[in-house]
Amino acid sequence: MPATPAWPPRSLPRLFVRTRLAEGATVELDAAAANYLGNVLRLGEGGELLLFDGLAGEWLARIATVAKKRMTLVAERQTRPLEQVPDVTLAFAPIKRAQTDWLVEKATELGVARLQPVMTRRTVAERVKIERLESIAVEAAEQCGRTLLPAIADPLALPAFLGALDRPLLFADETGGAPLGQALRPGPAAILIGPEGGFTPEERDLIRAHPHVIAVSLGPRILRAETAALAALTAYMALAGDWR
Ligand code: SAM
Repeated sequence: MPATPAWPPRSLPRLFVRTRLAEGATVELDAAAANYLGNVLRLGEGGELLLFDGLAGEWLARIATVAKKRMTLVAERQTRPLEQVPDVTLAFAPIKRAQTDWLVEKATELGVARLQPVMTRRTVAERVKIERLESIAVEAAEQCGRTLLPAIADPLALPAFLGALDRPLLFADETGGAPLGQALRPGPAAILIGPEGGFTPEERDLIRAHPHVIAVSLGPRILRAETAALAALTAYMALAGDWR
């Protein structure tokens, strides 16, 4: 006997909406979303999909009206409550745009709670477009089934980031540190990943002098910054996060 298929089927399209969801709530879709559902997915009146607003969990919704470049949906019932994710912040020195986009997408899929761009001496990216990173996080959340979006903070200079630190910081240091697996403890944490060019010796001293900092090694090889971010977050989720 085939297992009873999960309801709602995981295959239903998922959309993030900025309208607060509740039973009977009406959601007006913008032209881009209406075009996606209507012309790409060929959904019409009566069609079903899943919505989430990052606050009220996931809801089954039905297409009520379809007009040129516009669609109205009605939320029918909650299908999943808002998820709880491990309280981990990924602090990273912005890298080249494509790599930063990739890092944000993967960190969202892995379940990160917060992303904190940290500007360092050797940071290549002059400007970080937060709206752009938010839209990448939304797409990743729609795809991987998240109901809560990661918070993306405005960039901070390294000294300001350290000054505001309120939790253990796992400092990924390619010059050496404790094996990550030994340094991980359940509970709130932050992970710091440097730029392609690495931290300057002065920055490294400043970071290591901070009482909340634990320098960790991600193994004997020099990883690209985006690989280091993914490796550290994966280890955190497996050993101290919600994969246990
Ligand atoms: N500039 C450095 C070099 O060429 O020696 C490499 C920097 S690495 C490309 C970028 C960042 O990834 C580092 O600042 C560090 O945070 C992290 N990283 C890379 N490999 C690592 C390792 N084996 N252990 C800990 N952190 C690592």
